[in-house]
Amino acid sequence: MSVRFSWCGGEVGAWSILVHGGAGDLPPERREAHAAGCREAARLGAEILAAGGSALDAVQAAVTFLEDDPRYNAGTGASLDERGELSLDAAVMDGATLAVGGVCALPPFRNPIAIAREVLRDGRHVLYAGEGAARFAEERGFFRADPATMITETARARLEETRRGQDGNWADGTVGAVARDISGHLAAATSTGGTVGKRYGRVGDTPIPGAGTYADDLAAAASGTGYGEGYLRTGICLRACLWIQEGKTPQEAAETAIRMLWKRAQARGGILLVAPDGRLALARSTETMSWGACWASLEHLTAGS
Ligand code: ASP
Repeated sequence: MSVRFSWCGGEVGAWSILVHGGAGDLPPERREAHAAGCREAARLGAEILAAGGSALDAVQAAVTFLEDDPRYNAGTGASLDERGELSLDAAVMDGATLAVGGVCALPPFRNPIAIAREVLRDGRHVLYAGEGAARFAEERGFFRADPATMITETARARLEETRRGQDGNWADGTVGAVARDISGHLAAATSTGGTVGKRYGRVGDTPIPGAGTYADDLAAAASGTGYGEGYLRTGICLRACLWIQEGKTPQEAAETAIRMLWKRAQARGGILLVAPDGRLALARSTETMSWGACWASLEHLTAGS
């Protein structure tokens, strides 16, 4: 499996943000809209960074925007599990302190990334699961959502196709972001409904530090999307960050990660990276992965899929 697409951007010493809207095989007619959403998410994050805000706030804002957009597999519009229900995974990590917060198998809440951020802020534990995560969220003032307001017709149709064996369980649309702020701090955030029709209780790579999300100011920050079991088996986000720390360029690290995912775990997908100096890179082995990026000035706003 070769690297189908790779990209690099950013500027040494500047703030930067790179956002993804999931790896997969989007039909051509949906690609432009997917890229446009990522562009807007990158713009929101970039505004925070340009105003001197933190990488952590920027990645949360970008991911929140995409969670609220029903076209992506996160928050509203997320993929359904085998029961036809939402079971959401999300994590956010601060490269300055290695503080990280995650939720997994979370029942419907509008913005799982906000709950993950609260887990990070609280600091007592790293990851909460299922009803325990829901209880934590409610104690912190978040409200359960009516599933009917978050489950879309597209998500139902996708589950039916998967049940009829007409489609793989590829989801197209996990969302994530990495950023470097003007103080040189890095952050990463990722949010997903997981794979379509997944077994009840399945947790993917997204909320697991080092697998689907990672950030360390001394190494790099990463967000992954793709066949999560492969990301979990290889710990690929941590590996890619360490390759940068050891001297690979972000683009070399991203491409090496995509090759390793296939070679060692037969997993397809994509990865985003930001180096401590602000350089950005992405690589994918899938047909598509929508993305948006911005660095140094709001004029450097770009997107693709
Ligand atoms: N990595 C996600 C998971 O396996 C799915 C995706 O990125 O599309 O849960």
